[in-house]
Amino acid sequence: MAEVRVNLEAHSYTIHIMPGGISHVGALMRRLPLGDKALIVTDENVCPLYAGTLTDSLTAAGFTVAMVTVKPGEGSKSLTAANAVFTEAISKGLDRKSPIIALGGGVVGDLAGFAAATYLRGVPFIQVPTTLLAQVDSSVGGKTAVNHELGKNLIGAFYQPNLVVIDPTALETLPDRELKAGLAEVIKYGVIADQNFFADLAAAAAALLTREPAVLATVIGRCCELKAEIVAQDERESSLRMLLNFGHTVGHAVEAVGGYSEYNHGEGVAIGMHAAGLISKGMGLCKHEDVEILQQLLSRMGLPLTAPGYSPQALISYLQRDKKMESGKINWVLMTGIGQVKITREVTDSAIKEALAQIT
Ligand code: ADP
Ligand code: ZN
Repeated sequence: MAEVRVNLEAHSYTIHIMPGGISHVGALMRRLPLGDKALIVTDENVCPLYAGTLTDSLTAAGFTVAMVTVKPGEGSKSLTAANAVFTEAISKGLDRKSPIIALGGGVVGDLAGFAAATYLRGVPFIQVPTTLLAQVDSSVGGKTAVNHELGKNLIGAFYQPNLVVIDPTALETLPDRELKAGLAEVIKYGVIADQNFFADLAAAAAALLTREPAVLATVIGRCCELKAEIVAQDERESSLRMLLNFGHTVGHAVEAVGGYSEYNHGEGVAIGMHAAGLISKGMGLCKHEDVEILQQLLSRMGLPLTAPGYSPQALISYLQRDKKMESGKINWVLMTGIGQVKITREVTDSAIKEALAQIT
């Protein structure tokens, strides 16, 4: 079992990465100053798979368990779903020491985190992520949000969990496409911060795709360490944390242009990282071979490099909309080599256009 400590002064917490970890959540929670009532938030896919094990573990540790099960998918990141969580919390008499536990992927994590941040002005929050994407990314760092009909993630808070328990064996049931989406974020960590890790991933590709728990545990642990280091230095995304957006600028545009139905987040990020690599090369920041190495690893993990048939102009319009939200210029995260990135606002239109032409 591995542990990663996220150092955020009064908001510090530990991530436990342990195969079979879901059945230890109750015991791990007992180390914290919590009340005896707990509320699990999960979705209809995850509930039949893992909610029983989690509930047993909590009951054995002396907790009384309530549960809210939402529909799977982004639609549940809503104020309506949050209200269902509040209703259950109030009617079961949860108080300020009662933890809300997210059991599921990023959707459930964001929803439960938002509810935990706001119910009674904040109650303890536990993350038990069950997608690779959530295990390496969204469960660490404290971003919580629901969507508004006018845009995604517009209503939310930075709110750190008190405990994160990652069970790599829960990935056995994850659909292949979701696993690969998580691998896109895994590759991202290699590009932004760790050349050796990137090389290890290339060597471990087959084991990752067949979900060997020991290999998954090692890789997830390293991603959590890297994210924890970055988040500890910049909890609220004023500077360093922006590095985590590598591949996300074009990635979000690809997701949006596809109506959020054609490419999932990880696939968008894979295409976006490829675009960022091409822009980096176009700006003379990295070598041609660096982009080739990135392309090879993305392909090896079964991820898309391009969004064929997409209009570069449609992607640019979306980028410009994003830019307005950030008052003026986009902060591009570009690679200067594998394992190294820099943030720059000085990117030429021609480098962007050339890259977008290559990925569409
Ligand atoms: P993400 O973590 O990718 O942001 P979601 O929370 O939408 O996103 O989860 C992706 C999908 O995978 C959802 O349909 C969810 O119900 C399902 N899911 C989550 N964890 C598991 C698992 N361990 N096994 C099978 N399906 C899962
Ligand atoms: Zn992401």
